[in-house]
Amino acid sequence: MRPIKEITEETKMLAEYNSPESHRDEVKELIHEFAADRIAMNVLHNFYSFLPEAREDGIREIRELTRKNGVFLLCAITFTDNYLYLVSMEKVEFLGPLSQGIPVREVLTFFAFADDDAFKKKYPTIDHLELYCPVATDIRLCPVCGTGDNEFHAPGCPVEICPWCAGQLTGCNCRFDIIGRDRLNREKHLDELLALLEKKGRVPYDAASHRPSYMNDMNT
Ligand SMILES: [Zn+2]
Ligand SMILES: [Zn+2]
Repeated sequence: MRPIKEITEETKMLAEYNSPESHRDEVKELIHEFAADRIAMNVLHNFYSFLPEAREDGIREIRELTRKNGVFLLCAITFTDNYLYLVSMEKVEFLGPLSQGIPVREVLTFFAFADDDAFKKKYPTIDHLELYCPVATDIRLCPVCGTGDNEFHAPGCPVEICPWCAGQLTGCNCRFDIIGRDRLNREKHLDELLALLEKKGRVPYDAASHRPSYMNDMNT
């Protein structure tokens, strides 16, 4: 993963070119606010890289529709429209204007919407959407992958607990023993591991007991 600092610096530079000068201070302030938050910065970086309408615009605020297993459905409120983004620590995908709903079947299914109409009915406007808060400021979320209490971590999250030995899944040797290999260097091996993990029963995130203790110290 690219260092967050690098993504933030690049976002600042892109915003300098691609946001309207009249709103530049507001734009910069928002980037500054999310400088340490990978989820929001992935949205900001994608927006200023691609500009949905291919003309100058800027993000005024970011709101949250829903989230699951470290995948967030966010809405970027700009000076001209509202845009949906599907975002995790690793990836960001532009979904289009909020008013057009969600065009991707898999996304609707993932968040348990029966269909696009059900989504539009639940989120007709941005009025009831809460402002998105950085992952580190929410004690219920895994500080590394952003998954919620009692949800599954993003694959490869170092906070995930191993169901075979109760150690750290990315730290113990169970994954090598189970697959019967010395190295897991192919996507195929990782898929195989995930399938075996699911069969065994993955350990969901428990905000009360799994949160690394240094994070608790930071927040008290
Ligand atoms: Zn995690
Ligand atoms: Zn283990």
